[in-house]
Amino acid sequence: MDYDTYGSTAVELAIALANADLEPDDGVSRFLASHDEWFTPGTSLDLTPSDARKAADTALLVRAVALAESQPDVLTRLNELLALALPRPYATDHDGELHLHYARPDAPALEQLTTTVAMGLSQVVVQHGWQRLGVCSAEGCDDVYVDTSRNASRRYCSNTCASRSTVAAYRARQKS
Ligand SMILES: [Zn+2]
Ligand SMILES: [Zn+2]
Repeated sequence: MDYDTYGSTAVELAIALANADLEPDDGVSRFLASHDEWFTPGTSLDLTPSDARKAADTALLVRAVALAESQPDVLTRLNELLALALPRPYATDHDGELHLHYARPDAPALEQLTTTVAMGLSQVVVQHGWQRLGVCSAEGCDDVYVDTSRNASRRYCSNTCASRSTVAAYRARQKS
């Protein structure tokens, strides 16, 4: 997928967080460890239980923004998420590409996570519209996604769900 036109790949982290299984005790730590490229090298990714709960709340807020069905709802939920952010942006080319980081580099993991997620998500919403966020239409999947297609025609979280649904629809037609 091409997030370049979105000015921010941070929305990718927001979507991944909203779709992650954070229920197990080490769910949040495992999520952070598997997305460690988003954190300043050397940041401790072991959260206290209370910080882990806050990270899970952030995930729920991202999901709530994606599920919102009206602009007032989007605004309320997005602003709730933004209230958790402590942006202090800086430009960097640590990976070869010039881009912005939203949280101060020495911030604790929870602050880096919440700030990056809130800023990345809100940037897409205000620049491209909240309709770009959605929940997967495939049966049995409730993952959220950001629609980066040119004509905003996306309905599934992934190619896997899209082809699974195509096959199911084909079989249903065969039967009838
Ligand atoms: Zn970076
Ligand atoms: Zn799906």
